[in-house]
Amino acid sequence: PWMSAGEIRRLFLEYFQNEGHEVVASSTLVPKDDPTLLFTNAGMVQFKDVFLGGDVRSYKRAASSQKCVRAGGKHNDLDNVGYTARHHTFFEMLGNFSFGSYFKREAIRYAWRFLTEVLRLPKDRLWVTVFEDDQQAEDIWLKEVGVSPSRLARCGAKDNFWSMGDTGPCGPCSEIFFDHGETVEGGPPGSPEEDGDRYVEVWNIVFMEYNRGQDGTLTPLPSPSVDTGMGLERIAAVMQGVHSNYDTDIFRHLTEAASRALGIPHPSPHTSHHQQHHASSSLNVIADHIRSTVFLIAEGVVPQNVGRGYVLRRVMRRAIRHGFQLTGSKEPFFHRLVQSVVDVMGEAYPSLHAKQHDIEKVIKAEEHSFAKTLDTGMKLLDDTLRQMEQSDGVAQVPGEAVFRLYDTYGFPVDLTADIAREKGLTIDTQGFDQCMQRQRELSKTANKFSAATELLPSSAVASSVADTHTAFTGYDLLEGDAQ
Ligand code: ATP
Ligand code: MG
Ligand code: MG
Ligand code: MG
Repeated sequence: PWMSAGEIRRLFLEYFQNEGHEVVASSTLVPKDDPTLLFTNAGMVQFKDVFLGGDVRSYKRAASSQKCVRAGGKHNDLDNVGYTARHHTFFEMLGNFSFGSYFKREAIRYAWRFLTEVLRLPKDRLWVTVFEDDQQAEDIWLKEVGVSPSRLARCGAKDNFWSMGDTGPCGPCSEIFFDHGETVEGGPPGSPEEDGDRYVEVWNIVFMEYNRGQDGTLTPLPSPSVDTGMGLERIAAVMQGVHSNYDTDIFRHLTEAASRALGIPHPSPHTSHHQQHHASSSLNVIADHIRSTVFLIAEGVVPQNVGRGYVLRRVMRRAIRHGFQLTGSKEPFFHRLVQSVVDVMGEAYPSLHAKQHDIEKVIKAEEHSFAKTLDTGMKLLDDTLRQMEQSDGVAQVPGEAVFRLYDTYGFPVDLTADIAREKGLTIDTQGFDQCMQRQRELSKTANKFSAATELLPSSAVASSVADTHTAFTGYDLLEGDAQ
């Protein structure tokens, strides 16, 4: 049966509550007191110390629907957005957790029952994977749950040993995939063609057993625990009979709002026409990025040239550039999408309502700031790309151009890479790093002699100044001097 994302969220929490889990609210995207983490990237983050044994709660079982951002840091999906049907920078992770209360058997059974009995998914569309050394989990799936061996795969550590970050709780995991059917490209889990959108990973069940220390060594946790994560948008796609997350209720609302704000027709999801494909992938990027933008600003993150604020700026400028690409106009549009996010997320996150106006203001300011350099930067890049096309065999945008775009035009490196990728090209990151290094040294020497460096929006200067909106404008003043 068709089910809204909101209904799935409710059923999930209710199911685990009935199984003795405490329903815990989502924690913030900006992790409290955890310098090892850029943003909350999974449901377990707020329970990290409970797993490690340093924090004791009144409950041993919990369930949540957690806001997550995977842009920058260890789990970074920024580059996937626009290219896959299943990745977002902002998404919600449904999860159940056991702090020494139950382990593999119960965790696997709970997940299976929720999918096959509560959501009533057909068993033959579900595939499972286990960590290659985890005979125990494999036995539970095959002998107790009755999954067919033809739909079970053993996988290595890359996919089936989960870690929150470079340090912290970790352990082998077992994952459940949904087969969207042969109209979609992609191979079964564990196969070389796995990385398509046909067999989509919906639920990861992690058997938390270790803590990884600074030096990489694993020490056992005080008690074997469970941490699971199911992407709400992915299971919503399954329940709504669409293969792409971007065709679910929430995202349709957002892409439609985006095409209205941009004044372009909304492309039909079933067309294979090249142009339309590009348009819908740009709209998907915009729809995805407005959610992370809104939720990050709601927590006080502002676009900056350093740290979390720089991740936000990268997300925002990537979306703004896609809008520019669709219309050729640098008229601000992105801030006008805040309303649509409040429409679809405001019920689950009521605090968005009160912040809407402030969020719009921050976005608008960033749009104005980027508009100053967006089209000239794009012209420079287009020229460079055209030159490359003419000189056969050059497949990398030169580091100097990438640096100039970054330093003078406010194009984050991954933005330039994103544009190059649309043409099947890459960028010379090494060359970029060298330019960056040279700039740092230059500004060090300059510092000794004059105060004029304050005008230089060089990365070195810019990154030491927590400047919100005025970056990348001072260089114009110096451009004559520099040449
Ligand atoms: P994938 O292999 O598809 O990138 P993952 O293995 O990186 O996913 P996990 O770290 O296991 O993901 O996270 C648990 C669950 O969260 C996944 O099974 C998926 O349902 C969901 N999820 C992970 N990353 C994203 C994302 N970028 N956007 C939406 N949902 C996601
Ligand atoms: Mg991933
Ligand atoms: Mg995976
Ligand atoms: Mg996974």
